[in-house]
Amino acid sequence: EGHDNPDRSVAFYRLDMNAGMQERMRIESGLRHALGHGELALYYQPKFEIGTDRVVGAEALVRWVHPERGLVSPAEFIPLAESTGLIVQVGEWVLEQACAQAAVWQAAGLPPMRVAVNVSAREFTNSLPGRVAETLRRYELDPSWLELEITEGTLMHDIERVIGIMDRITELGVALSLDDFGTGYSSLSYLKRFPIQTLKIDRSFTTGIPDDANDCAIASAIISMGRQLKLRVIAEGVETLDQLQFLRKAGCDEVQGFLYAAPLPAYEFERGLRENWLLLA
Ligand code: C2E
Ligand code: MG
Ligand code: MG
Ligand code: MG
Repeated sequence: EGHDNPDRSVAFYRLDMNAGMQERMRIESGLRHALGHGELALYYQPKFEIGTDRVVGAEALVRWVHPERGLVSPAEFIPLAESTGLIVQVGEWVLEQACAQAAVWQAAGLPPMRVAVNVSAREFTNSLPGRVAETLRRYELDPSWLELEITEGTLMHDIERVIGIMDRITELGVALSLDDFGTGYSSLSYLKRFPIQTLKIDRSFTTGIPDDANDCAIASAIISMGRQLKLRVIAEGVETLDQLQFLRKAGCDEVQGFLYAAPLPAYEFERGLRENWLLLA
């Protein structure tokens, strides 16, 4: 081997390493440990149809239940997991867990409600459709229970290959949505070629409604473009009644945010369904 003295190379890297790198390595090895020791959890945030106020789906959001630090936000470890490749294992765990939970809800007789799983660009490979199909089969889960949220970053490279993967996923009956819409670089001319069902207006735009004229204009434009393209539009990060009112008037189809509910553990989500919310049957 080139590095015949491992101790020396470690020492070399330590000397050179700034606090940020050390922190990243600490999180990475912690996350590896978390994967093997059941420290990840999925939370579920309901999505509501504006016209009916009913639950139409749930976004699955991963949490790291750290023995000392408590709940660690994905904002802290997903970008790192993406850059190290660990996202693939995290993503496999998330899809498995989300389908297991959806199968429980399906077996309980709930009307189909899409459970949406976030999928990073690095997970969007040729093997993904097969893995999704296999997982649905194993849980005997109807595909109308599953949705994948992808971001514009996924669409940036090798667009023909990406469209091929998208087609294979939607042919299964699984829905696709475009997350954080408006923050990336995707070319609008491609939008009509993507087999997506839904555009998600990024929270950074929702936040500025109704005071920031630019954010209002961008949200309205996304909504009317979505309508023209026959896509559903959902706004994420809805926290106030003013925002809801604006979005309703602008013709937005669905909302998701703290105004209705935060991401919740499955049992609290079920309690919400039992006591507070109605499902769209
Ligand atoms: P995202 O997919 O855009 O998810 C929406 C984020 O907004 C979630 O943050 C959610 O908790 C938060 N949120 C929802 N409503 C509100 C609101 O009214 N106000 C505010 N301030 N925030 C709200 P979270 O759970 O921290 O996740 C952050 C990001 O991490 C996600 O953004 C997604 O990009 C990524 N992520 C989460 N889980 C997964 C996963 O399982 N796989 C992958 N690849 N990425 C994930
Ligand atoms: Mg999402
Ligand atoms: Mg989003
Ligand atoms: Mg977002």
